[in-house]
Amino acid sequence: MNKLLFGGIIINVTGVLVQYYVTCKRELWFFANQINMNYNNDDIDIGKFIHEKSYSRENKEIKFDNMVFDYVKNKNDLTIFEVKKSSSLTIGARYQLYFYLYNMRNCGKDIKGVLVYPKERKREEIRLTDEIIQEIDEIIEDIKRVVNLKTPPKAIKKPYCKGCSFFELCMV
Ligand code: SF4
Repeated sequence: MNKLLFGGIIINVTGVLVQYYVTCKRELWFFANQINMNYNNDDIDIGKFIHEKSYSRENKEIKFDNMVFDYVKNKNDLTIFEVKKSSSLTIGARYQLYFYLYNMRNCGKDIKGVLVYPKERKREEIRLTDEIIQEIDEIIEDIKRVVNLKTPPKAIKKPYCKGCSFFELCMV
């Protein structure tokens, strides 16, 4: 179900595709069609540094199926952590984590997700609901449609377009 047919090849729907879907369907299309812009983005370097330095003692990326968890606590219940640079744009990170919880929902344990913002010393707990499960089902189906479009969806101006590598291409 989490697989899609793309250019005659079956690929996995991943957390990154879900993240792009909720932030910008046009960027999702570029990413899935392997169209990249060369650029230096300090935000990405800072994010990578925080990612590497935060929780360095216990943090190990855990690869499971088509997912990469930043950090997991597996005790009586299962907690999946996602470390982010800033809480200013959380929708993509939140849905990526929902997608992980969605995939793990039948693991036999109570599950929850935690978004962690080390720089701000903040964390936000999220849980899966029936409504979110239905929404993720719909998102997965629509990702299949969007990535197989012949041309990218129209550019729609968003508050974060200026920080996007496709900004000059989109001219929004
Ligand atoms: S510049 Fe804006 S519209 Fe264009 S890909 Fe980036 S986020 Fe999407």
